[in-house]
Amino acid sequence: MSSPILRVAVPSPLDRIFDYLPPPGCDLSILRPGLRVRVPFGRRHVVGFLLELGTDTTFDRAALRPALAVLDTEAVLPADVLALLRWACGYYHHPPGEVFATALPVLLRQGEPAKSAVPAPLWRITAAGRAMLATESRRAPSQKRLLDYLAHCPDGAEPENLRTVVRDSAAILRALQAKGWAESFDRPTPILSKPIFTPQPSLEPSAAQAAAVATITAELDRFQVFLLEGVTGSGKTEVYLRLIEAVLARGRQALILTPEIGLTPQLLSRFRERLPGPLAVLHSGLSDRERLNAWLLARDGIAQIVVGTRSAVFTPLQAPGILIVDEEHDASFKQQEGFRYHARDLMVIRGRQLGIPVVLGSATPALESSHNAQRARYHLLRLPDRVGGGTKAPIEILDVRRQRMNEGLSRPLLERMRTHLDRNEQVLLFLNRRGFAPILLCHECGWLSQCRHCDARMTLHLRQRRLICHHCGDSRSLDAACPLCGSVDLRALGQGTERLETTLRQEFPETDITRIDRDSTRRRGSLETLLADIHQGGRRILIGTQMLAKGHHFPEVTLVGIVDADQGLHGLDFRSGERMAQLILQVAGRAGRAEKPGVVVIQTHHPDHPLLHILVSEGYPAFAVAALAERQAAWLPPFAYQALLRAEADDPERAIAFLHLARALADSGTERIEILGPAPAPMERRAGRYRAHLLLQAGQRQDLHRFLEDWITQLRAKHTDRQVRWSLDVDPMELF
Ligand code: ADP
Ligand code: ZN
Ligand code: ZN
Repeated sequence: MSSPILRVAVPSPLDRIFDYLPPPGCDLSILRPGLRVRVPFGRRHVVGFLLELGTDTTFDRAALRPALAVLDTEAVLPADVLALLRWACGYYHHPPGEVFATALPVLLRQGEPAKSAVPAPLWRITAAGRAMLATESRRAPSQKRLLDYLAHCPDGAEPENLRTVVRDSAAILRALQAKGWAESFDRPTPILSKPIFTPQPSLEPSAAQAAAVATITAELDRFQVFLLEGVTGSGKTEVYLRLIEAVLARGRQALILTPEIGLTPQLLSRFRERLPGPLAVLHSGLSDRERLNAWLLARDGIAQIVVGTRSAVFTPLQAPGILIVDEEHDASFKQQEGFRYHARDLMVIRGRQLGIPVVLGSATPALESSHNAQRARYHLLRLPDRVGGGTKAPIEILDVRRQRMNEGLSRPLLERMRTHLDRNEQVLLFLNRRGFAPILLCHECGWLSQCRHCDARMTLHLRQRRLICHHCGDSRSLDAACPLCGSVDLRALGQGTERLETTLRQEFPETDITRIDRDSTRRRGSLETLLADIHQGGRRILIGTQMLAKGHHFPEVTLVGIVDADQGLHGLDFRSGERMAQLILQVAGRAGRAEKPGVVVIQTHHPDHPLLHILVSEGYPAFAVAALAERQAAWLPPFAYQALLRAEADDPERAIAFLHLARALADSGTERIEILGPAPAPMERRAGRYRAHLLLQAGQRQDLHRFLEDWITQLRAKHTDRQVRWSLDVDPMELF
């Protein structure tokens, strides 16, 4: 009998699976999909992923190389994650090696054992150790340093933390143990057992909450997508909590995706307070070790609840019971480089494969999701009102045409601010642009702060005294004079949050002002400090970018000002109106509380914009209906399916030439596919590279995918210009 062929996903940009023979002398009975194997690849040895066992190969069997070692005895990934990843390779037309690399924690990709995450014992100092510390011995300084550290850890020290205290802490601990100065001991409350649990007093659910919970819990054993649409404060999180309780009671796990863990500490602490089971958190701020541990806790069923950002969609679960996506409209669920997947969409696919419910929650669902609800593919559940009797903040449009503006702020808005501040309340101003001003202009010669590498202007950051490009990160120090003509008449055009802050300090000198954006929160812990100030209450102005729009709640804010809605109304992208509407409502949702409802004021030069009107007078559901009608009339997603072929090169001609080649390959037999381009990207030059694209659009998803399959294969074969880098983006969320 000939040995099986191992079909292996190898970390490489090549879009294929590689065939190997089993390692010599390997016990063939242990081989199964999902194991990691170390294989020779070119001149390197890499960790690959065994996808299939085959009986034959299209290559010469004698030329196949044997794998070097099998790294696991049991599959690292369960069958459902394997199936999800294979589905994603096909759907996004992305090389399997890179897709599998996205799903595995770094340490597993490097070949670390995937052993269950039983925590190592802790270390503490003994009485003899304390006695030794008291003597002024000068010998063995590292031993002393470690003992000294242990003496300050009355509850015992994590071995992992000791590694930062001295070099080679493991050897030193052994030496200390041999001398009887330190000892290891098991954790008093292992994290595997249930932590002490103090359930919050259960809230009496509102009728809408009760209905949503009842509908979903009645369907826990089959696949169905539920769209939970409810304004901020309508009690969506409370619904998640009850659903998770129901799932845990059946001995199953819950996986929850959220946009950014760092910005949603409130969500996590509510989970921790209310839910008894061990919880694993997966986000980009973890060390590789922490990430692997959390991942293993999920895989082995020790963590009953798994909360994570985008890539957590691939977390293996032992007994998955429900999949939840919070803020499902959020753009961060789409990966914008490399393997460009949409985590919300993959959650739906995963739920279908597992036969379990998927809950998508949002105050402002993506139009794609609203559309799926309209045509009954998703089950829509609405929480129409704020719980606890509070009312939604009314939204007003402020027509700023012909108004005298003080650095972007109209008189009426300033007056309203004064009224609220005089009542000792807080005011929040939203402006989605950090820095002082987006352009610096020479009034003498017309010079502009153009970036050397991008088709964009550098933003003026006055406090740092620098010009910074927000697209490529390039920066230079600010000169007092124009680099072209030497004039000192330099003028800052447009508004950023820094400028708003400066203006308001002059306008309201006696008022505390807190600015929250990436610049003001760069240092660790500074966001927490700023938030703590705000929560003390009292007269204060908050200024912020979309960082302010997420997760946090500001009960003392009674007036929200959207400084500039026009940016969003007239963006280049067909999605900019949708994004603006979502942002406005998200910011509005930060404000007020039941007894002190807020009011929202939107400054615009286009008070008659139809979609803005519907949003303000009828709310988001009506906005979604109208915006979807526009999309349908214009044959845009979700009524058409798109893929974007991007190319970039140092030389613009070469990128375009590649796209012409791509188009020529596509032009045969594609009456069901519309091809637009090649065209330069809206920002053609970025970070020194020229970018162009080809947009493909089809009325049927299947037509598009059948076409892409063939076309991408041909492109990979025919594309020879190594100077051109290209990528395919299926369901692109941004067209540049
Ligand atoms: P959302 O997730 O939709 O923003 P939350 O679930 O966070 O809403 O609920 C908003 C606030 O109302 C929270 O402080 C929550 O504790 C409270 N809340 C939720 N449900 C109820 C309820 N049924 N009765 C009273 N208060 C509730
Ligand atoms: Zn000049
Ligand atoms: Zn730049």
